[in-house]
Amino acid sequence: MFGVVPKPLWERRIPPDERNRITLALRCLLVEHDDGLVLIDTGLGNKEDAKFRDIYGVANAGTRGPTQLEDALVALGFRPEEIRWVINTHLHFDHAGGNTWRDPAGAVGLSFPQARYVVQAKELDFARHTNERTAASYLSHNFESVPFTVVTGEASVLPGIRCLPTPGHVPYHQSILIESGGERACFVADLVPTTAHLPLPWIMGYDLEPLVTLESKRSLYRRAEAEQWLLFFEHDPHVVAGRLAREAKGFGLVDQVQRS
Ligand SMILES: [Zn+2]
Repeated sequence: MFGVVPKPLWERRIPPDERNRITLALRCLLVEHDDGLVLIDTGLGNKEDAKFRDIYGVANAGTRGPTQLEDALVALGFRPEEIRWVINTHLHFDHAGGNTWRDPAGAVGLSFPQARYVVQAKELDFARHTNERTAASYLSHNFESVPFTVVTGEASVLPGIRCLPTPGHVPYHQSILIESGGERACFVADLVPTTAHLPLPWIMGYDLEPLVTLESKRSLYRRAEAEQWLLFFEHDPHVVAGRLAREAKGFGLVDQVQRS
């Protein structure tokens, strides 16, 4: 998760277990829009086998639905059928895995059957044409049966909801900018997966183009700082959101929202 950052530095921020795994969230964002419910990313889903779940230490099983994502919707008083839009930041298994689910009989279906699913056109193409380096992250059962609506580049999905290309992690990764009541929030996904990744050079080893990530972070930070964006962190185990603040050395976070 920390690329070339030496372990003595990163383990102070997120301590690893005896198998060198760290705790990460699979945090999706639900937006209550005038058009209906908008879900940004869908977590990891329930389709992977026991070996996969052990390697990654997946702990997302639901008690009322297939995963904790459906449980969380129920807790808010919503049903999966009420989701009108699903926006994927990219199609890696930990972001699009919950697009579909496996029912008890083993069949795979859409998790949000009434939703319009949105992704970058070139990300869908990239996911369908993998190589030895990219294949392990793009599992076709997360996207092949999904009837996507594709967007290209910076694009408006709904009034107040925009896709912002933030390439580097993958070439067509996008962040989602939300504007409401004169305020802006941004779901930065794997551009800045946790608050430990706020320093510009703290970039994941998973990133295909780390120097592109660096420039995507630099330019997003410029706008986020100038316009006081509330940044949402998909993988941070504790911090849900916060606003960037420039410090003596690099960036810090103010107005932090902690996991309840
Ligand atoms: Zn991720």
